[in-house]
Amino acid sequence: MCKMSNIMEQMVFNTIDDLAKDYEFCSCPQCRMDIAALALNRLPHHYVVTSRGETYSRANMLELQNDVDIVSAVFAAIKIVRDKPRHL
Ligand SMILES: [Zn+2]
Repeated sequence: MCKMSNIMEQMVFNTIDDLAKDYEFCSCPQCRMDIAALALNRLPHHYVVTSRGETYSRANMLELQNDVDIVSAVFAAIKIVRDKPRHL
């Protein structure tokens, strides 16, 4: 069984987790999802097909990361969510 996924989603979540170590922002499930959705709307999608259980390699992700500025898209999203958080 093959699976198609937008690798950009995983990379955006990885970036949010990395930034959460160094910056103050709420990373509750609601805010994480809001940040990810906003960032993904600014970024190109990048679909890959993997077979069951196989994951896209970190090396390939890093290569892709150099092409698009994921960090700046995530940062812009963090600012928006931080100003207007939707969590309770
Ligand atoms: Zn929150």
